[in-house]
Amino acid sequence: MQSHIAIDAFSSRLGIDLDAIRANYRTISRRVAPARCGAVVKANAYGLGATMVGPALYREGCRTFFVAQLCEAGPLEQVIGGDVEIFILNGIDPGTEALCAERGFVPVLNSATQVEHWRTLARSHGRSLPAALQVDSGMSRLGLPSAAAIALANDPAFARDVDLRLLMTHLACADEPARPANVEQLARFRMLHAHFPGVPGSIANSGGTFLGGEFHGDVARPGVALFGVDPGPLAEGLRPVVRLDARVLQIRTIEAGTGVGYGLEHVATTRQRLATIAIGYADGWPRCLGGVGAAWRGGARLPVAGRVSMDSTTVDISALPEEALREGDFVELIGPSQSLDQVARDAGTIAYEILTQLGARHARIYHESGAAQVRVPGSYP
Ligand SMILES: *Cc1c(COP(=O)(O)O)cnc(C)c1O
Repeated sequence: MQSHIAIDAFSSRLGIDLDAIRANYRTISRRVAPARCGAVVKANAYGLGATMVGPALYREGCRTFFVAQLCEAGPLEQVIGGDVEIFILNGIDPGTEALCAERGFVPVLNSATQVEHWRTLARSHGRSLPAALQVDSGMSRLGLPSAAAIALANDPAFARDVDLRLLMTHLACADEPARPANVEQLARFRMLHAHFPGVPGSIANSGGTFLGGEFHGDVARPGVALFGVDPGPLAEGLRPVVRLDARVLQIRTIEAGTGVGYGLEHVATTRQRLATIAIGYADGWPRCLGGVGAAWRGGARLPVAGRVSMDSTTVDISALPEEALREGDFVELIGPSQSLDQVARDAGTIAYEILTQLGARHARIYHESGAAQVRVPGSYP
């Protein structure tokens, strides 16, 4: 565990509000009740740190977790209670079935091959092994086609081999409530679910939880909404979770005609004050924000001037009075002035991608119940 002293060795600070994550979990739990509310913490809890986020959700009462890969399940299990189910959304890579079973993780069987490998292992154990089964209700990404799923339901040996904990599907357009695909997928899933009586069903990602009760199923699988991102136009009541600030490395004034940054892509048309801040594309601040994005300070928008570098970005601070920003001060990149969604829009992407790319160099400050815990990579300073 690192001390607070280390934080000064970091030029950028990523604040993660665990109270807000817990509040968002409560909000969605209440929405989907009586369905059970799980939590998707794949990709290191969308980049925010599964070993901090997982226990916070556990303290809030979450007992059903979803990760994408087997390698994510172990580190999560080590920091939360044993009374949980950890589902592996991508299923099992060939050759890792025994390891997965030994550790008690529950794979989502997505393909006929994954089903066959799991059944082979079960038969070698002489007992059924827990798993979830994903059916493809229309997204054509992962999951068994309808006919193959029905064939399994009608195969008495399947129930002997597999202790089916969940029948799940995934919505392609949950963030667009008006798309007919949502109700079409729901109808196909219900038809398939009828072949698996007594098995809990799971349909909704974050967007699905805001589509209406018929999408809630028995177990909801929200991810991004827990992290404060609105998963569509119907979302409400979610609290922002992330704050990102970076330090000013240098301030200068340039005259009209002076070029800025790689390629001298920005050329001042008037006298301009610039601040070079300690964040770049290596920190997950997308390079495509060059000439488009902004930082903020005291209510003023500070447009990015020129290209984003690996470790720094130059912003135009002409809008600020001179005394309002000094070298060593911080500017806001994500927070009350500029939402994650705004950054994503500027970068031509979605908030998911911004979140999961937030780099390893930030000092991470986790806030919960009035206390702050700092986590930094490596052993700094
Ligand atoms: C990532 C994922 C989720 C969570 O999606 P969000 O949009 O972040 O809520 C749920 N289910 C599956 C199968 C996923 O891959």
